[in-house]
Amino acid sequence: MSTHKTDDPEALFRRAAEHALAFRRGIADRKQRPDMTYGEALAKWEASTPENGQPSEAVLEEMVRLADGGLHAMTGPRFFGWVIGGSHPAGVAADWLVSAWGQNVGNHMAAPAASAAETIAATWLVDILGLPNGSSVGFCTGATMANFVGLAAGRSEVLRRLGWDVEAKGLFGAPEIRVAVGEDVHVSALSALQFLGLGHERVLKVATDAEGRMLPGALAKALDAGTGPCIVMAQAGQINTGASDPFEEIVPIARRHGAWVHVDGAFGLWGNACPTRAHLTRGVELCDSWATDGHKWLQTPYDCGFAFVRDAEAHRRAMAFGASYLPPVAEGERDPTHYVPELSRRARGFATWALLKHFGRAGIAEMVERHCRIAKIVADKAAEEPGIQMLNKVVLNQAVLRFGGNVSIEEGNDKTLATIAQLQKDGIAFAGGSKWRDRWMMRISVSGWSTTEADALKTAEAIKSAWRQVRGRND
Ligand SMILES: *Cc1c(COP(=O)(O)O)cnc(C)c1O
Repeated sequence: MSTHKTDDPEALFRRAAEHALAFRRGIADRKQRPDMTYGEALAKWEASTPENGQPSEAVLEEMVRLADGGLHAMTGPRFFGWVIGGSHPAGVAADWLVSAWGQNVGNHMAAPAASAAETIAATWLVDILGLPNGSSVGFCTGATMANFVGLAAGRSEVLRRLGWDVEAKGLFGAPEIRVAVGEDVHVSALSALQFLGLGHERVLKVATDAEGRMLPGALAKALDAGTGPCIVMAQAGQINTGASDPFEEIVPIARRHGAWVHVDGAFGLWGNACPTRAHLTRGVELCDSWATDGHKWLQTPYDCGFAFVRDAEAHRRAMAFGASYLPPVAEGERDPTHYVPELSRRARGFATWALLKHFGRAGIAEMVERHCRIAKIVADKAAEEPGIQMLNKVVLNQAVLRFGGNVSIEEGNDKTLATIAQLQKDGIAFAGGSKWRDRWMMRISVSGWSTTEADALKTAEAIKSAWRQVRGRND
């Protein structure tokens, strides 16, 4: 065993910054996909367990060398693969300091600045997203955990009203909770149900319209058919169409049954921060809890999500725990860990604060608006080409395209998958596929801060070119 005490943090940190700059500088011009597959990357990384340590600078250089070729230009301007934001430099820089400062933001006595940044960023988020004043906020790893937190608060509250303490007693012997979800619910929201003992299969599936929005009549029917406590999981931003549930109609139905309404708004909730799109999420503030991501539309580095709960007491009850070695929290004080499942945790408040400060309310509205405009341009331009069909009404940042024209479902699926593969191979723009209602489609998700209208035109051309290559094979 050897230890290295000669490492120079200054040289190391500078080197890391140089590598970061080199990567970001070339991002727009490189292929918008990795140059190697996972298998190839694994072969490159393959090595036996290190027995003896090495200087940290050498380790850093080796990591950069090994990662090269296997990095995806997710922060590039023509990455449309998933709604995953683009790690804005303002957040990346803040996040470097988060690591350098090494604050464990479990409680506010140990980490006052990190806790304060979270508290203030939380109130800004509630304001910008148009949620009820005083809603509590948990900073977690992403929307999957934010869904978990919101649903945990709902589970706690609907059972508390019946005199059942789920935190203490668990679900064994508890009144059965009915959970209603739309047919087009995101899989991650179902996994949150799975973690909570509510099951992802025993849900009441509520029919949706052509854009994936819950049908109010179907929800009423599902809830009328039974009795007992219930939770309705709604959605702001369907992953294929970008459509949101009609909250103004479904919340009163849920209320009649005393249901808790949770919203999976991983990206779609940000539409509420944009005056020209807020009508899409009208009434979302009437719900009880909301999940959204920082690392999608707000452009923070991964991992960052937010859980909002109108009833702060239910939120705390579901998440908080005490221990003799943890400082007590006085009335009116906020401990970050009381609103999320983790104890030791990353100081997510700093990058969140930095991005809210950098964009401001106006900058967020402008970016959301631009992304929605770009999604529409890509889809409109691509659909000018014979054989390319736009499948959704592009209202938000999502556009779905299908290839082949008037052919059978199977043939359309083959053509669509072949076009996606060709687009990815060409590497000018990156989009992935999604299977929805038996049909494969190319999914364009616009969510990177650096994407411009020029990128939209370039992307539409790349899609048309990919399709022409596929079509040409059979001509
Ligand atoms: C991305 C997404 C999630 C999951 O969020 P993570 O941050 O990846 O955990 C959940 N729901 C919807 C609608 C999403 O788009």
